Amino acid sequence: MKSVYCSVITIGDELLIGQTIDTNSAWIAQQLNKIGIWVKRRVAVGDVKEDIMQALDQESEQSDLIIITGGLGPTADDITKPLLCEYFGSTLIQNKEILDHVTNLFSIRKRPMLDTNLKQAMVPDNCTILFNEVGTAAGMWFEKNKIVYISLPGVPFEMQHIMTERAISKLKSHFITPVILHRTLVTSGEGESFVANRLIDFEAKLPPYIKLAYLPKLGIVKLRLTASDIDTNEIDTYFHELKIILANITVADTDIELEEAIYNLLIKRNETLSIAESCTGGLLCSRITSIKGSSNIFKGGYVPYTIESKINVLGIDKMTIETHDVISEAVVVEMAEHCRKRMNSTYALSVSGHLEKQQGNTVVWIGISKEGKNLAKKMNVFYDREKNGVFVTNNALNLLRQFILHG
Ligand code: AMP
Ligand code: MG
Repeated sequence: MKSVYCSVITIGDELLIGQTIDTNSAWIAQQLNKIGIWVKRRVAVGDVKEDIMQALDQESEQSDLIIITGGLGPTADDITKPLLCEYFGSTLIQNKEILDHVTNLFSIRKRPMLDTNLKQAMVPDNCTILFNEVGTAAGMWFEKNKIVYISLPGVPFEMQHIMTERAISKLKSHFITPVILHRTLVTSGEGESFVANRLIDFEAKLPPYIKLAYLPKLGIVKLRLTASDIDTNEIDTYFHELKIILANITVADTDIELEEAIYNLLIKRNETLSIAESCTGGLLCSRITSIKGSSNIFKGGYVPYTIESKINVLGIDKMTIETHDVISEAVVVEMAEHCRKRMNSTYALSVSGHLEKQQGNTVVWIGISKEGKNLAKKMNVFYDREKNGVFVTNNALNLLRQFILHG
C-alpha cells in the first residue's frame, strides 16, 4: 500500500523568535500517526507572504497532505486567509453559519463586536469549511492537483478541536492508509548507550521494515518499535523479545511516565505514599499530583528546604544532621521515616542533596521508608540545575517503584 505523506507548516513570527514553542506540529503528528499518515516534514515560517507561498510550493512537491496552522486571527499580522485565496484563486464570501456563530459568541461573552471580528465569517468560495465551535477562525480544506491542504488556527485548543471533530474523520475517508504500528518500552536505571549495548544482537536480526528508536530523557530511556502495514503478531514477537532482554530495567510496556507506573502499582495494592523533598523543591510532589486520581494514593508532602525546617517541621534530630551532615544516608532515612509516620502512608520517599556543582560531581541522597524497612541510595548528578532536578526526580521515582515491587 502506498504511504500517505504529510507536511506540517506552522506560521508565526513568535515560533521563529522562540517566544512560542511549536507544540502544534507534535500534536498533529501524533494524531496523524494513529490514522496511518506519516509526517514527512515540519516547516516553521514567519508571518511573511513570500515565505509562506514558497513553503506551500515546496511542500506540494513532497506531500499528499499539507496542514497549515496559524495566521488566521482577525488582526493585520494574520495573513494566511488572503494568501490562501491568492494561492487557490478563491474569492471571499460570507458564510452565514460562521457569522451567526461569531455573533453568538460575542453576545454570550457580552462583548461588542468589531468589524475585524466580522471578517472571520468571510471564507474562500472554493474550500470546505471545517467548523470551529470553540473559536472564531474556521478551518479550511482545499484540494488542488490531488493534494489536500488544511488550514487551521494557531491557538492549540482550537486547532485540536477542529482536527478531532472535523478533519480526522474526513482524512480517514479521503486517504487509504496503511496501519502504522508502534510498541513502546519504558526503561529506567541504565543509560542509552548501555541499553544499546545489550541490544546489539536484537538489532542485527530486526527486519529492515521494523525500526527501533531510542528516546532518552534524563534517567529514562524509551524504546519504540515502529512498522507500517505488517501483521500485528510480527511486531509483537519482536517486542516480546525486547521486553525479555530488558526485563530488569523495564518500567512499562506502554508509553507512560514513571509517576503513572507508581500510581498503577499503589492503586492495585491499595497502598499510599507521602514525600519529603528538599533539593527537588516540589518536583516529586508535582509529578505525582499530575496524575488524575492521585488523591487515592498520595497523602501529601513536605518541602523542608533548610536545616531549620528539617528540624522544626519534620522533626529531624539535630544530632543526626550534625553527626552525619544534612546530605547523608542517616538524614534521608530519618526524613522518610518521619514523613511516613506524620502522613500515615504506606511508603515515604525523601531526597536531600545539591542540584548544582559544589566541587566535581554533586551528591544527592534518596531515602525510602516502609514500616519495618528503610532504604537509602546515593547518586551523583552532573547536569545543570534544571536537568539535575528532573534527573533526581526520575531516579527517586524509579527507586520507589523498584522498592514497592521488590522491597
Ligand atoms: P494565530 O492563528 O496565528 O493568530 O495564532 C494564535 C496563537 O496561537 C499565537 O499567539 C500562539 O500563541 C499560538 N500558536 C500559533 N502557532 C502555534 C504552534 N505551532 N504551536 C503552539 N502554539 C501556537
Ligand atoms: Mg499569528
